[in-house]
Amino acid sequence: MLGFPQIWQYPRHFLVPKQERCQKLGLGKFNDSNIERSSRNLGKNKGVEEVMSRNILRLICGLGLTLSSLCFATAQSDSLSDTQDQQTKSSTQAQEQDQAPQKPTDPSGFDGDYAFQILKAICDLGPRVSASEPMLKQQQMIREHFEGLGATVINQDFLAAHPLDNKRQVQLRNMIVRFHPENKRRLLLGCHYDTRPFPDRDQHNPQGLFLGANDGASGVGFFFELGKHLVDLKGKYGIDLIFFDGEEFVWRTGIDPMFLGSTHFATEYAKNRWNGKYAYGIVVDMIADKELELYFEGNSVQYAPKLAQSIWGVAKELGVKEFIPEQRHHIRDDHLPLNSIARIPTVDIIDFDYPNVNVGNIYWHTEKDLPENCSAESLEKVGRVLLEWLRQMQNMK
Ligand SMILES: [Zn+2]
Repeated sequence: MLGFPQIWQYPRHFLVPKQERCQKLGLGKFNDSNIERSSRNLGKNKGVEEVMSRNILRLICGLGLTLSSLCFATAQSDSLSDTQDQQTKSSTQAQEQDQAPQKPTDPSGFDGDYAFQILKAICDLGPRVSASEPMLKQQQMIREHFEGLGATVINQDFLAAHPLDNKRQVQLRNMIVRFHPENKRRLLLGCHYDTRPFPDRDQHNPQGLFLGANDGASGVGFFFELGKHLVDLKGKYGIDLIFFDGEEFVWRTGIDPMFLGSTHFATEYAKNRWNGKYAYGIVVDMIADKELELYFEGNSVQYAPKLAQSIWGVAKELGVKEFIPEQRHHIRDDHLPLNSIARIPTVDIIDFDYPNVNVGNIYWHTEKDLPENCSAESLEKVGRVLLEWLRQMQNMK
């Protein structure tokens, strides 16, 4: 992932004057008919609308809606249902007193410890730069795990010129893991699984070792655990987990193109909707930060405002306060091609304050992006929210 809170820019082909984007609800280079089509797609999906409307109403009624920018409305959270939370906590505590003092189990069943163990195992492979040996090992791990669960795993291979040698073609690979592939109505959850070649923002060693525990391995560990729940999570939608390659095959900062895998996927999808039709997409990136703080991401809110409010609304229902319904950053990430090329309304769930908002994003793209700065609890919180969101989506008529 790459993003600059203050001086962010779209890639050149996304570049549209900001005011214009705002007027068009953030739909970058779309023309009016595309905007209408996008809006219709949202409107068609009645079940999603119900989830979203319910959560939006909750946010509006319970909290009040305020404009956080000229572009869109962001629900402002003030007081969560503290009384209810306290009651729930009290009864939970009473039950727990009868038991041995163990770490409480996540009621959703999402095992953050397992996701974190996978994160560490992925880091143990070494840096997973596109087309490198550790990347090939990671691909093998992904195939074995998800085929073992009974999912269908598809490699989407493509060639890209190596940034340092245009004559050299490198093979990159998106991996598409499909649950219930017979269902034509689908949801997409994506993460990148490559790592940046160098920790180029590291003040001491910018050519050093970049492990990408949070920026790379967190999504993989998360999906390994999430996949275990998707086999039995049947309903309105089939679900695809997509591992995008080449998100940051960046050898020269600010020069080399990003989002190679998601751009390839989005382009192929736009040509031929071979996977059925994706109603919505969610990209997760940097979700294992030990001090989890998940704000609305600006481009997501511009492209897919109802989806963003729906997910953060579920977090509010569950009392997961790390999902903060305020906008904080504009991030360039894999959700941009999914929104603008594939036209799948897609939200980026990302913690761009690594380790926290007080000191800033100082671990990002540095040698500090290590498992010790990530946690199982953070992965579990995101898992709890997304599993519940998926359950609600699956149960919609
Ligand atoms: Zn990154």
